[in-house]
Amino acid sequence: MTGYMGKLLRVDLSAGKVWPEPLNLAYARDYVGGSGLAARYAFDLLGAETAPLGPDNPLIFMTGPVVGTAMPSAGRFSVCARSPLTRLWGESNSGGFWGPELRFAGFDGIIVTGKSETPVWLSIIEGQAELHSAADLWGLDSYDTQTRVRDLLAEPKARVACIGPAGEKLSAMAAVMNDHGRAAGRTGMGAVMGSKNLKAIAVHGKAKVPLADPDGLRAVVKEITEGLEEDMSAMSIRLAGTAGYVDMALMYGDAPLRYYQQAEWDDAGGLSGVLMTEEFLNRGVACYRCPIVCGRETRAPNYGLDQVDGPEYETIMAFGGLMMVGDIEAVIYAGHLCNLYGLDTISTGCTIALACELFERGLLTAEQTGGLEVRYGDALTAHRLIEMIGRREGFGDLLADGSQALAEKLSVPELAVTVNRLEVPMHDPRAFSGMAVTYVLSSRGACHMQGDMYMVDTGQGPAIELGVLPGDRFDNSEEKGRISALSQAWRNLYNAMTLCQFQNPGPDRVLQALNAITGWDLALEELMVLGKRIVTLKRLLNLRLGLTRADEVMPELLQQPLCGGSEGNVPNVEALLAGAYAEYGWDLATGAPTPDTVTDLNLESLGS
Ligand code: SF4
Repeated sequence: MTGYMGKLLRVDLSAGKVWPEPLNLAYARDYVGGSGLAARYAFDLLGAETAPLGPDNPLIFMTGPVVGTAMPSAGRFSVCARSPLTRLWGESNSGGFWGPELRFAGFDGIIVTGKSETPVWLSIIEGQAELHSAADLWGLDSYDTQTRVRDLLAEPKARVACIGPAGEKLSAMAAVMNDHGRAAGRTGMGAVMGSKNLKAIAVHGKAKVPLADPDGLRAVVKEITEGLEEDMSAMSIRLAGTAGYVDMALMYGDAPLRYYQQAEWDDAGGLSGVLMTEEFLNRGVACYRCPIVCGRETRAPNYGLDQVDGPEYETIMAFGGLMMVGDIEAVIYAGHLCNLYGLDTISTGCTIALACELFERGLLTAEQTGGLEVRYGDALTAHRLIEMIGRREGFGDLLADGSQALAEKLSVPELAVTVNRLEVPMHDPRAFSGMAVTYVLSSRGACHMQGDMYMVDTGQGPAIELGVLPGDRFDNSEEKGRISALSQAWRNLYNAMTLCQFQNPGPDRVLQALNAITGWDLALEELMVLGKRIVTLKRLLNLRLGLTRADEVMPELLQQPLCGGSEGNVPNVEALLAGAYAEYGWDLATGAPTPDTVTDLNLESLGS
C-alpha cells in the first residue's frame, strides 16, 4: 500500500476503548481522503435520527494521501461530523502540522463515537493510543490546553488539536484549534468534540508515508517549487498574507460591509493588508512544508499583546467591514479572542454583526442584551460579546447558536445572511455570480472553500484543463453555473487530497504528484470524476439528513442590488443552478442525482 498509512484509529468514548482498524482501500480509491473519505465512512454511520450533539454522531479526523509527503502545502486535515449549526453534513479543515503528525504517528484518520462520562484527552504516540483524564484541562483556553498537553506528555514535539471553552459550552460556532491559532472553524466541529467530553488529541511519531514513486514525486515537487515564483497570487499571499486581498475585495465589491448592505466605506482603508503588514506584522508563519507562508503573526500593543496568530482576510472582514470597525488592531484582538475561546471567526463575526443590524432596526433591545448597546463600529462591545459567546454568558448564550438561531428567536429569520444555516463568508456573490452556486450547493452551507469563483474570475488558480475557466464575473448564465459546479468539484478533490487551495500548480502537476504518491494511474479527466463523486456522495448524505431543493436559496439581503464594485449585479440563482445541476447530473425538480449519474459515478451501493 502506498500513499496511505493503512490504518484508522477507532475510539469509542462511551466504552473508553481505542483500537486500530485497517483503512478501507476501496473507499480510499473512490473518495481519496479528507472530507471525501470521511463522508464515505459517515455514510455508514449517520442517519436522519442522529443528533449532532448526541453520542452517535461520528466525529472524524481525516488526512489525505498527499499529507506529510514532500508535496508543498499539504499539511492539512479535515474534521467532519453532522453539524450542530447546519444540521447537515459538517466539515472543516485546518493547516499547521497536526495532519502530517497524525500520519507520522501511524494513522490516516480517527473516528470518534460515543461520549465519555468525564472529560478526557487522547494521545497517539508512535502508533500507541491512550485516553487520559482531562479533569485538569477542562476550562482552559485553546493555547493553554495545547501547552499543558505537551507538558503532560513530556513531548515538546507533539502536535495538539483541541477545543477551547466555546467547544465545552457547545457553541454551534465552536472550532477545533491546533498548532497555536490554526482552526478547523466552520460548522461547529468544536461543539461535537465538546459533546463527547473530548478536550484534546495529541499526536506524534516518526513513521514515513510510503510512496509509490519517490523519484517521480521529487521531480514534480521541484517543478512546483520552481514554478511558484511565477504564481502572482501565491507571491502576493506570501507578501501580505490573505489580508493582502482586502483592498482588491473592496474594489470588486466582494468584501461585505455593514452586514452585507453597504457598497463603499471611507474608513475601509483602516483594514488594509498593507497597513497591517507595515504596522502590526511580526512575521509570516507557514504550515508543514509550505513555501507560500500565508499565516501571519501580528501584535496588538494597545491590548498588551506582542504575539497574535492572524488575522487572515475572512477575520478582517467579519470583524472589520461587516460590523464597521475600521481599526485593524481591534480586529486583530477580536481574532485573538476567538482563538482563545475556540470560535469560528466567520460565524462569530457574522452573528455579532447581525446583532448590530437587529439592534439598529429596533428588533433587539438593551433589555434583551442585558443592558448592552450593540452598535456598528463599537469594537469594545464586539470583544465583550466574543467572551460572552465563549462562556455562553448572558446574551452570549443566544448568540452562541449562530445567526440563524438568533434571527429565528427574534422572529426575523429572513434577516440572517446564511445558506443552509451557515453564515455567508466574506465573498459577496453579487460581486462574483458564480459564488451564488458555490454557496447554494455547498454541502456544508455557504462555503467559499468548496468552489472559489472569486479567484477563478480574477485569473487566480483556474484549472483550465478541467474546464474551470475564468470569465465575466457578472455572468448569470447556465454556462457560468456549469463552470462553478466544476470549480466546486475540483475544490472538493483538493479537500480530499488534502491540499491547500492556495497551492495551484495546475491539474497536470497535481495529477503527477497524486499518481507518484499513491501508485494510481489516473488520467487527467478522472480527477473531475473523483471530485464529482465526492460532491454527489455529500449530496446523498445531505438528502438523507433532510436537505430539500427548497433550501437552495440566497438570503434576502443578498438579493438587494448594491452600487460600487458589484455594479448592481444580483445573481440569477435559478439560471446558474440549472447549469450546475446539468453538469452534476442531478434532477432539478428533486435535487437528487439521477439514476444515470449514480451509475456513472459508481455510487449504486449508496442508493439514488
Ligand atoms: S498557504 Fe497558508 S494555509 Fe496554505 S499551507 Fe501554506 S501556510 Fe498553510
